[in-house]
Formats: sequence, structure tokens, C-alpha cells
Amino acid sequence: MKKEAENNKNQKHVLVYSDKLSGFDFGPAHPFKPMRARYMMELLSRYSLLNPKNQLVIAPEPIDENLLYLFHTREYIELLKRTEHGGFTLDMLKAGLGTEDNPIVPGIYDFCLTSAGGTHKGAEMLMGGAADVVFNPIGGFHHAGADHAEGFCYLNDCAVAIAEMLQKGKRIAYIDIDVHFGNGVRDAFASSREVLAVSIHESGSTIYPWTGFQNDIGVGAGKGYTVNIPLLQKSDDEVYLYAFESIVPPLVGAFKPDIVVAVIGADIHREDLLGHLSVTSFGYEKAVRIIREISPRLLATGGGGYNVYKTAALWTLAWAAICGLEPVDNYAGLVGGMMYGPETQSGTLHDKPFATSGDSKNECFEHAREVVAYLKKNVFPIHGL
Ligand SMILES: [Zn+2]
Repeated sequence: MKKEAENNKNQKHVLVYSDKLSGFDFGPAHPFKPMRARYMMELLSRYSLLNPKNQLVIAPEPIDENLLYLFHTREYIELLKRTEHGGFTLDMLKAGLGTEDNPIVPGIYDFCLTSAGGTHKGAEMLMGGAADVVFNPIGGFHHAGADHAEGFCYLNDCAVAIAEMLQKGKRIAYIDIDVHFGNGVRDAFASSREVLAVSIHESGSTIYPWTGFQNDIGVGAGKGYTVNIPLLQKSDDEVYLYAFESIVPPLVGAFKPDIVVAVIGADIHREDLLGHLSVTSFGYEKAVRIIREISPRLLATGGGGYNVYKTAALWTLAWAAICGLEPVDNYAGLVGGMMYGPETQSGTLHDKPFATSGDSKNECFEHAREVVAYLKKNVFPIHGL
């Protein structure tokens, strides 16, 4: 334990944050609230998790547009850029722009460029040895396609950063624990064996993007390098961690990446407004902890999370876990729970323990066992497991 603490002290932990990004507003009716990153910063400070010695907080800068073309089409970027000058054309709608999910909000292009710039900067710092861990909470837009926006995602910062790191000869594993299947990143690398892309999510039979089943294991030469772990609604910590631990560490261990890119969406939480899993703060934190343990270097992005206060609390736990720090509440006993939402009690970021039982639990477990067995049979041998 002591050695681990020493190791953590020598590591460089980078948090990507700016008030400008977190202040961006998609409108009152839109579920995506960048403001949760600011609430997270307040919690990080309250829980003594911002230690200047081996940490750096950097403000993201807009990404160089040319890097976007590593994944996106020029036509699509032109359309997205045109949204800045007002006016609306029908081809925008065809590219998913101007819909309820992906509204054309003033400043959206700059917001997307800057968020992608944060993930890009993280990749650069990891490759150059200036960081061991980077967390960009307003990143992880894993649904964006090469030529279209979808699912609140306009630019796929993860796909762009992965493509950039591949170009520099890095071996990349992608781990996506957001409640939604990371379809955009999957599509980017499904036919490649250069990226191991693992996504664990609520089954596409009950939630957007309606895909990501276990039998999608990649295409052609990429067969076995796309891995999907769909779970039934109401899967709790026990089911979640059983599936995660059975599949993710062995595969990533066999793949031996240089850098792991992760989407640590907080929408797997049982009180999320969009997801239907029954994971608590304990299951979430454990999954993030394991991701850190199996990642030589880690580029973590925030992804989804639609219960604003819960997401801020979970990301705070995630940051502590990936930095090897213990949250200590500086204001315990002084501030009531209402400050960060009624469910966040003073003195702890964690939930009350919760587990499901009965038929629903059995069904969830049975389904998870089937998925694990399928992947062990069809994917593990490809990796010599
Ligand atoms: Zn999500």
C-alpha cells in the first residue's frame, strides 16, 4: 500500500477544465449539462483532491481543425462550421444537426473544438510522458459518426485522439463504461486490430443506440477487437462487476496497450435520468479503479451522466481513484447535504449500499453469464486466452 502511494506521488495527474466549457448551455430542456464539471471542481476542492504537487489543471484549447479529418469527413465539418454563421439548411438535418438531441446552439462549433482539444492535449501529454493520467470530464463524445452528429455528440474526440495516437505508433485500448454503447468509436475501428475497443453498457434492446450486442465482435481483420458487454436493465453492482471483471482485465492484459482511452460515463448510476442500470457509487468507483490498474497510461473522458449532482460526485470518486487519493471532507459537520443535492450526505460521496434480489436479479445474472460465456468462447481465443 505504501509503495502504491509512493508511485502515485511520482505520477503526473492532469485534469482538463475550464469554466468556459462547463458554462456552455444546451438549453433548459436538454439533458446534457456541462455544468456538472464545475460542481465536480467544487467537490474536488471540498474533498482535498486537488493537490498541486503532482497535479496540473489545464484549460483546453480548440483542436487544430486538420486533426478532425483523421476521423471526420470534410463535408461534415464544413456543415458544423456553417452552423456558427446562423441560418439552417436541410443538409444539416441529414447530418444530425438541428435535431432535438443535437441542437444548433450559438457557439456549438467552438464548444466542440475546445472539448476535442482537451482530449487531444491529453493524448499529446500522455505520449510525450508529461502525464500518466489525464481526465477530461467534458469529453467522451462517443456517439458522433464520421459524417454526422448523434446522441448529443457532434465531434468524436475519442476517435480523433485514438487515430492520432495510432499514427504515432501507439497501441491503444478503449474501455467504455458509459451506460450507452460507444457506437461511434466502434464504427471508427471495427475493422482494425490496432485498437481493442471494449464497451460495457445497458443492452441495446432497451436503450439508444439500440446496437452493441455481444455478437458484434468486429469486422474482417478486426474480428475479436471489438468487444461488447450488454447488460439487462436493473443490473446491480454485483452483476456489473462480475461481467466487467470477467472480460475487461484479461483482454486488456493480453492486448498490452501503451495507452488506454476510457469513457467513464456516470449514467450507469441507478439514479440516472436516462439509463436503467442499478449500479451504485461503489460499483462505479470499483470499475474506474480497475481501469486505472490495467492502464499503463490513462486518458479518461467524462461521457454521459444526467443526474447532475450524482455525476459530479461520481466523477469526484473517479478522480480520487485514478490518482490514488482518499477523499476527505473538509466541511463534514459544517455543511448539510442539500448543498450538492439531497442525496449527497455530508462526509461521504458514496451512496447507501444497494443490491437487487429475486427474479430480476437472477435474470440479470443469467444474461450476464451468457454474454461472458459467449465472449470467452468467441473472442478470448483470438487473444490467446
Ligand atoms: Zn451515455
